[in-house]
Amino acid sequence: MSTRICGRCLNERAYPDDFYRSSRMPDGRMAICKECEKTRVRAVHRVYQQKPRRKRGAVERTEEQIIRDEEKRVAAANERAFKKLIPIEWPARKT
Ligand SMILES: [Zn+2]
Repeated sequence: MSTRICGRCLNERAYPDDFYRSSRMPDGRMAICKECEKTRVRAVHRVYQQKPRRKRGAVERTEEQIIRDEEKRVAAANERAFKKLIPIEWPARKT
């Protein structure tokens, strides 16, 4: 199976399975992986929900900021979920 480095998270991803199609790219696939694209799209939707009539230039800067915040939020949520799993993995002691 072929892999490729994602342009955003820099993780190695399965290629082409983990990359959405894009007719604008020379190889027909996006440069960022599906997970990053989902995060980006969610963040973009959030921007437009919050400020529907912002100026174009301002949207782009804010978009980048909100994408970073969204990535941090997802990472923090994953970490919290991971921590919650730890007690389950503790061995049950019977003494
Ligand atoms: Zn990625």
